[in-house]
Amino acid sequence: MAFRLQPPDQMMWPDGMRSAVALTFDLDIETPFANGETPVARRPGLGSQAQYAAKVGVPLILSLLEQLEVDATFFVPGKSAEDFPETVRSIAVDHEIASHGYTHEAPSSMGREREEEELLRTLEILASFGVDVAGYRAPFFEPSAHTVELLDRYGLRYSSGLMDDIRPYRHPGTGVIELPSQWLFDDWSQFGHGYDDVLARNATCSHVRQLWMEEFTALHQLGGLMVITMHPQVIGRPSRIQMLADVVSEMKSHDGVWFANCRMIADHAARVL
Ligand SMILES: [Zn+2]
Repeated sequence: MAFRLQPPDQMMWPDGMRSAVALTFDLDIETPFANGETPVARRPGLGSQAQYAAKVGVPLILSLLEQLEVDATFFVPGKSAEDFPETVRSIAVDHEIASHGYTHEAPSSMGREREEEELLRTLEILASFGVDVAGYRAPFFEPSAHTVELLDRYGLRYSSGLMDDIRPYRHPGTGVIELPSQWLFDDWSQFGHGYDDVLARNATCSHVRQLWMEEFTALHQLGGLMVITMHPQVIGRPSRIQMLADVVSEMKSHDGVWFANCRMIADHAARVL
């Protein structure tokens, strides 16, 4: 069928750019499992699946990003930064560090006071690495009704926790820009099979590559933003790193794709929105 997606009359991206892509990595490592009934320390097998992120995943990702010459954003839970400081230091040399809560519990299931405490605690921890934190992603993409207000109050400039648009937008009455993502391009929803779900099957790289490229091609026509959400223990497998390299190269073969970290995209959006 001769159907063509129609872009908006006015593109929002910098001159000559038609769409934007952000490569983002959530440095969850052990945090999603640390609060379970049996702590990770008493389950070294379980822990090893998470620790792969720091030992192998992040170094492979950093090497790939260097070759691709792409600036990425790493959303870091405060607890991960305390437990794996060398990993955070290695990332902060060239890439943006943003907040991903402290415990990796969903803000939607905690009270306002606790959410504020986690936010401030994590900002303090991340500041000790010499980084200026501009953004936040709610764990599990589950912000609370207070999240945007808290981000605005403490001077954070963007959130990447909602899924209600294909382009950045400003939360009304605040200085907070939303950079929407989607489960469709979250590696965990494709490859991650749950640490205890040993019988679940993994998607092939070919499947995920096709899924992401199909969505990207359509988003690019519409002048959209693709925030790809990945986890070093998931995307950090050798075959998947190769797939990510192929996906980025294929995206770069389109005219006018702006690869930028979330801070750059949010700051640009704040100027034009
Ligand atoms: Zn996470």
